[in-house]
Amino acid sequence: MKDYYKILGVPEDASQEEIKKQFYKLAHKYHPDKGGDPKKFKEINEAYQVLGDKKKRAEYDAARKAGFSFKGAPFGAEGQGPSFDQGFDFGFKDFETSDFEDIFENLEEFFGTSPFKRSKRRKGKDISIDVELTLEEAFSGVKKEVNLMKFVKCPRCYGTGAEPGSRIITCPSCGGTGRVKQVHQIFFGSFVKTTTCPQCEGTGKVPEKKCKECQGEGRIKKIERVSFSIPAGVENGEVIRIPGKGEAGARGMSPGDLLVRVYVKEHPYFQRRGDDIYYTLKVNFSQAALGDKVDVPTLDGMIELKIPAGTQAGKLLRLRGMGMPHLYGRGRGDMYVKIEVKTPKRLTKKQKELIRKLKEEGI
Ligand SMILES: [Zn+2]
Ligand SMILES: [Zn+2]
Repeated sequence: MKDYYKILGVPEDASQEEIKKQFYKLAHKYHPDKGGDPKKFKEINEAYQVLGDKKKRAEYDAARKAGFSFKGAPFGAEGQGPSFDQGFDFGFKDFETSDFEDIFENLEEFFGTSPFKRSKRRKGKDISIDVELTLEEAFSGVKKEVNLMKFVKCPRCYGTGAEPGSRIITCPSCGGTGRVKQVHQIFFGSFVKTTTCPQCEGTGKVPEKKCKECQGEGRIKKIERVSFSIPAGVENGEVIRIPGKGEAGARGMSPGDLLVRVYVKEHPYFQRRGDDIYYTLKVNFSQAALGDKVDVPTLDGMIELKIPAGTQAGKLLRLRGMGMPHLYGRGRGDMYVKIEVKTPKRLTKKQKELIRKLKEEGI
């Protein structure tokens, strides 16, 4: 298989614009009318016919990639496969493989849809929801319940897709092998792709009669009440995965998960930083100066906090282990009480007199 990137002297991730520019440069240089090498000119032209065309380039890239896993590939061999006007000849023909999934994915990306229809994925999908919690709920962990419109296992056939009492027979589409061949025509020739049989999902067996309730899907759409637990210590923005609570899979295939994104509401007086909790306590100048005992709210309820004599404004008093629990871990963060010293705004005559005296004392 010819390396068209090498021939044009462009990297594999070159843009279409770069390829075009480089082609013009080389074509100018090697043009036979200008005394260039006709063979080289033909080669450049051939490379550009492919790389210069977005669709052909994608197929070429896919074929190149496939070349690594195709044992004994007759790439570049003459006389096989379809020929194209630029002498394009790969002998890329009629081989079977299931290693081609990635190529199909590439082609899907390029064309939006792939010529290679994949069999539908039957595992149940994940469901994402948002849940709002108070800080207290995040602190203790909480059980929540929501109503979800989703696929649930068909109650009539228990997810098998078979009408109760109907016989199980060999799948007529694949004759019981669970695989079907599909021939696809592309630029390079044809692929025979072997895929999972869509009728029996690869099991080789199908019910003789489909379940009336679910038409053989094994699942139906319905509103279901789903309950789940949010662990203690969860943070704002965290996504908790609840296994198996997503959409039911078709015909008894495993269900998807429920993904719960948690929003923790702001608290009126606690601020959270990681697993630490901050609280601002306003005290009088006299309390800060002389020390005092004050009731302070914490996540565990009210406690009596000792303010040491001579506490400065802005001082953080640490309450070790009284913050949020560590998610999925042991122990807790800390709580910090920040001291704010209130400056009185309105003073009685007596208070003014006393403060004046303090001033005289140098306080
Ligand atoms: Zn059913
Ligand atoms: Zn089948």
